[in-house]
Amino acid sequence: MMLPTHAATGLLLGVAASQLLSFGDAAVFVAVVGAVVPDMDIVMSHKRTLHYPVLGSASAVLFWVLSPYAGILALSAGLHAVMDVFSNGKTMRPGTDPDPRAVYSHVSGSWIRPVHLCLTGSVRDLALCVSIAGFAAAVQPGTWILSASIAVSALLGRYALGFVQREDPEYDRLSEYLKNRLL
Ligand SMILES: [Zn+2]
Repeated sequence: MMLPTHAATGLLLGVAASQLLSFGDAAVFVAVVGAVVPDMDIVMSHKRTLHYPVLGSASAVLFWVLSPYAGILALSAGLHAVMDVFSNGKTMRPGTDPDPRAVYSHVSGSWIRPVHLCLTGSVRDLALCVSIAGFAAAVQPGTWILSASIAVSALLGRYALGFVQREDPEYDRLSEYLKNRLL
């Protein structure tokens, strides 16, 4: 899934916390940050260093006791890693180059295989992102600027990934190392 789709999910989580638990705009900010941070491991071991599909979600309860905002941050980051399972592996060409590594489970010490429901940069990915962002803006109109920014980023991401995945023969000449860095 594209980063904007993760951001949109964090936005929705923050809006839910803001509306249902009266945590205000800070919850929205914290949830979006939590949803985006895991992919910062792109400069380390992507989908492994900052991705905790099991521990992230489970630790949210513990963090919640310390501070509800810390709990929301952990839950949002854990949700990101769980969502990655339902996308594709570590490849820029999910349709033609299947990779069995969706996300790393630090509990089992192995890679979880991807369930190809929403491939990175696909039309489904874009539609999911725009619908979630639109729904969040409808529920909490104060977030419309953030929602619109996320939707526009998804459109640009879809365009850029479409270019890399299908139209750029130069991509094939990149080394495996660079392809991994581009994920
Ligand atoms: Zn990720």
